[in-house]
Amino acid sequence: MINPLAKVASQLLKEPATLQFPEEREALEDNYRGVHKLDMKTCISCSACAKICPNDTITMVDTETDAGTKKMPEINLERCLFCALCEEVCPPKCLILTKDYSFEGYDRREFVRRPEELD
Ligand code: SF4
Ligand code: SF4
Repeated sequence: MINPLAKVASQLLKEPATLQFPEEREALEDNYRGVHKLDMKTCISCSACAKICPNDTITMVDTETDAGTKKMPEINLERCLFCALCEEVCPPKCLILTKDYSFEGYDRREFVRRPEELD
């Protein structure tokens, strides 16, 4: 017969099965695809990322820059498939997918990232 107290004691001595997020983070593969990063200084407003996106995730929006108003990608992370096609087609390679997977929010609008928030 199993001694319940011994069973509880053995469980208490075990290492935690979960990570203490956000202080501890899971190791990710090199090819992990997370939240986008945009270099606004080198974006040429070509819209290639928006045109290739298979899920209408990217909208080109007016963005204030030092050189005046330019169209740049706004990304709705809620719709994103993290397929990286936008990264592949970007001519100056100013739009990349990072290893950042920690996006959260209480409102669906919080998943829509303006160019300035991706920079
Ligand atoms: S990763 Fe894919 S789905 Fe997400 S914005 Fe880029 S092209 Fe669209
Ligand atoms: S992020 Fe790249 S593909 Fe998208 S508009 Fe800018 S330069 Fe073109």
